[in-house]
Amino acid sequence: MQTAVALNMPKPDSFSHAPHASVILRLAVPSPLRRLFDYLPPLDSTPAQLEQLRPGVRISVPFGSRTLVAVLVSTQAQASVEHAKLRHATAILDQDPLLPQALMELYLWAAQYYQHPPGEVFSTMLPALLRQGRPAAHPGRKVWRLSAQGRQLDADALRRASRQREILEFLTEHEELDRESIAELEISPVALSAMVKAGFVETSAQPRSPRHAAGKAMPEKVLQLNAEQLQAVNSIRSAIGSFGCYLLDGVTGSGKTEVYLQVIAEVLRQSRQALVLVPEISLTPQTISRFRKRFQCRIAVLHSGLTDAERLQAWLEARDGQARIVIGTRSALFTPLARPGIIIIDEEHDGSFKQQDGFRYSARDLAIVRARNEDIGIVLGSATPSLETLHNALTGRYQHLLLTERAGVAERPTLRLLDTTNEVLQEGFSAPLLQDIADHLQRGNQVLVFLNRRGFAPTLQCADCGWVAECLRCDARLTLHKTPPHLRCHHCDARKPVDRHCPQCKSKHLQALGLGTERSEGVLTSLFPDTRVLRVDRDTTRRKNGLDALLNEVHRGEPCILIGTQMLAKGHHFPCVTLVAVLDADAGLFSADFRGQEHTAQLLMQVAGRAGRAGQAGEVVIQTRHANHNTLQALVQQGYGSFARTILAERQAACMPPFSHLALIRAEATDFRSPEQFLALVRQCAERLLGTADCTTVTLMGPLPAPMEKRAGKFRAQLLLQSAQRSLLQNLLSQLCPALESMKESRSVRWSVDVDPQDMI
Ligand code: ADP
Ligand code: ZN
Ligand code: ZN
Repeated sequence: MQTAVALNMPKPDSFSHAPHASVILRLAVPSPLRRLFDYLPPLDSTPAQLEQLRPGVRISVPFGSRTLVAVLVSTQAQASVEHAKLRHATAILDQDPLLPQALMELYLWAAQYYQHPPGEVFSTMLPALLRQGRPAAHPGRKVWRLSAQGRQLDADALRRASRQREILEFLTEHEELDRESIAELEISPVALSAMVKAGFVETSAQPRSPRHAAGKAMPEKVLQLNAEQLQAVNSIRSAIGSFGCYLLDGVTGSGKTEVYLQVIAEVLRQSRQALVLVPEISLTPQTISRFRKRFQCRIAVLHSGLTDAERLQAWLEARDGQARIVIGTRSALFTPLARPGIIIIDEEHDGSFKQQDGFRYSARDLAIVRARNEDIGIVLGSATPSLETLHNALTGRYQHLLLTERAGVAERPTLRLLDTTNEVLQEGFSAPLLQDIADHLQRGNQVLVFLNRRGFAPTLQCADCGWVAECLRCDARLTLHKTPPHLRCHHCDARKPVDRHCPQCKSKHLQALGLGTERSEGVLTSLFPDTRVLRVDRDTTRRKNGLDALLNEVHRGEPCILIGTQMLAKGHHFPCVTLVAVLDADAGLFSADFRGQEHTAQLLMQVAGRAGRAGQAGEVVIQTRHANHNTLQALVQQGYGSFARTILAERQAACMPPFSHLALIRAEATDFRSPEQFLALVRQCAERLLGTADCTTVTLMGPLPAPMEKRAGKFRAQLLLQSAQRSLLQNLLSQLCPALESMKESRSVRWSVDVDPQDMI
């Protein structure tokens, strides 16, 4: 993706207009078919209306027996089907286009590149209310303001109600509060409703002006950049108004965020907007408040907790230029901007930028296409860049900006491998590690224990006959959970009670094998009875704000042990953590996936980066039974950069990405045969399309059973397509996919195409 690709995406001239007498509307209709649909204009449309029609307006159309909301892609003089077969559209819903043209082009390009139905791309990327045909107008946001009575109020009158006094002071300064800022500023809802009741505060559905919405009274001070940061900011600044791609390759804690902030300050000075994408896991109030404290402007935050009305509001504010900064997870990439200035992707290596189902796009890769379309700069930031991105930087396609040292007073942590081959482990902990933990706690510091497996134990086994509790619907073991006691499949979420005796031999000797976070939490609690042990994983953070509550506790700074999964590894700033312990580095090293080592290294470095982020030196201890493993050695001794170069060389030798390009066609069905039979036909079809002469240009591998052949009751198989040239792969796919759509066998399976797949499961 990150190289220029010649695709037959619509050229700007396809946006031109046909005379309205015979005008044909070419529409992206939300249907599972990979094509656009032609319609005649609505019967009651006037010539003037048709004259004004611009690509990007919504038009409702009859589709089968339903009426759907479609988006106009172009008007044509000639229909692609017989005129007699054309139906009339129902109604034109917008006067002005919803989307700027550059974004329309991005949507269409993405549909083509990822082989996804264009109508579905449009409809999944539009806010729900627009998708449903509601007007593209601000739905109104509930805000709180001082009443006339409240404005008369003297702060001293609230001497004994400090929370109310805070609200009074905030509203005097900022005029209004919205739901977002109430949450972010930790304003007490009780105090607020007391003030509403007393008549001091009133609510209204209309914000007065977006400029007043949020922001703290005192802007945070701008930090003095170190030399490397300054160089990075200066380089990136030059790209604000023209395309340029930058890899900000900075060790954890090197002050990448400060670089983003100062670049954004310049973007704002140029009256442009900034789009910031962050991994799902790091879209926390802490991240947002860093931006809010720095900038007084309207910031639109797109997160999953928004109501439909709030999402539309944020989308419109971005499109109309009122929101100057837009922050969100991967789908925020599709937000229109009135005056784009820069796109920033933080932790660009993070897997959450790739959507793994439905429209399987990479927000990072598409962001580069968008930046090119809109002629703006793009910054990819990471301490552990993906090999794709690093390769582009090393070959000069991206500018490589390095931050080699931690910012401010913090120093880089020391990494140490702890060979557990000859250690007696106490529930996963070696004696030297326990001693380390005790030492750090003794010094009043916090300890982070990383174990990327939730639950109590990954296996429940019969000690007598060897039976293992397995999921009936997947090729996978059930994980034992203790609170509450049950067995659960981590692949399909199936649950069942814990067996009391072995179903095979009736023995009562069932044993829990292996470690999960729940078990380690128990061990740590009993070994360190005087220390708080906080478990952070999907189970303890399921409740709304569960993660925030736990993080707040850590930020209080008292000695504690944090035990958790990768939720702990990413992005967090824990100033009091001085020891990071990785309980088991081995699980990821030997995975079947060719990206296994890369992902393991990234995770290890990210988790290691949590240590010693403030004044005190940090230490990282990695338990392993493979202390001589070359990957671990390279990583620990020379760091991620040199590790990554070693792996890049291996990939080159094996002709794997980024030195070749992949697409995966998956098929699944409830019966065992259909997926492979279908994919065998796909292969034949692909071979025909490639022609005998060209057979070597794209290599076909499979069909093969998926690494997890059975999942959630479905049998799964896959066909891998590989090519040294992206365009060859694209050419093949764009002929193959429509052909598959019309194959009758395709109806007996669920199939999908994954271009640039991230994992092969
Ligand atoms: P990263 O995003 O690279 O992990 P951060 O931007 O979170 O790093 O910075 C880590 C810490 O260093 C933060 O507490 C930040 O305030 C501080 N910091 C960043 N830049 C500077 C600087 N130039 N001088 C002093 N402290 C800095
Ligand atoms: Zn048994
Ligand atoms: Zn299952």
